[in-house]
Amino acid sequence: MRQFQPGQPILHAYILAAADAEVREKESMSLAAAMLCTAIGARPCGQCRDCRKVLRGLHPDVICVEPASGSKRPVFKVDQIRDVSADAYIMPTEAQRKVYVLRQADTMNPAAQNALLKLLEEPPRSASFVLAVERAESLLPTVRSRCEVIRCNTEADALPAEAVQAAEAYLALLALGDAVGLLRFSREHERDDADAIQSLLTGILRLLTAHLSGDRPLSGLSAEDAMHEVQRAERCLEYLRSNVSARHIFGVLSLTKPNRS
Ligand SMILES: [Zn+2]
Repeated sequence: MRQFQPGQPILHAYILAAADAEVREKESMSLAAAMLCTAIGARPCGQCRDCRKVLRGLHPDVICVEPASGSKRPVFKVDQIRDVSADAYIMPTEAQRKVYVLRQADTMNPAAQNALLKLLEEPPRSASFVLAVERAESLLPTVRSRCEVIRCNTEADALPAEAVQAAEAYLALLALGDAVGLLRFSREHERDDADAIQSLLTGILRLLTAHLSGDRPLSGLSAEDAMHEVQRAERCLEYLRSNVSARHIFGVLSLTKPNRS
């Protein structure tokens, strides 16, 4: 359980990423408790009235919202975000603020995410948000930029080794500008299933992030190139969410430096 130290600010919006549903739920509620905790020491203290109520699921100012059950899979609809938005202007009942825990927030379509973005850009003073997701990368970059990301590293969060290897191979080909190698790579992977493609794209994004932060530099890739590649991988993740064909996605991935002549 993550704790905030005395004096450490708690922001108004967090993305809580955990692959394991149980971990995600527990950490979301503990974060909500930290947001409302009245202790002077580390928060959540687990002992104050607000903490106890939140952790027992009884706090009136912690509002959990789930995606609507769609015909095939649950979907967070834009109307649900509008409801949250309207409710967020009503003052809290007991605590200093209200916390909205959006479960499975990664099921929001772009329209819902854009509605949420407006809310995150100008949040009512007494409202805070926890976006509980499997992978932070599945939210739009604009939404991510408004939140602090907390990753709960469980074993299930680790990408499959093949995905990491494929991501490394892809970025090496790209750094070399190896057009033929990139085409071959795409042919090899365009029949992968959606989960494998998502893991590959997530792997690419993680490597690029580590490269840009200097944690794990990749050779032959300038910061500017890496920024372009982040955009490309994010665009491909959006395509994947919109059910664009794998063939098209790999068509985009196989271009050498697509943003310049
Ligand atoms: Zn407390």
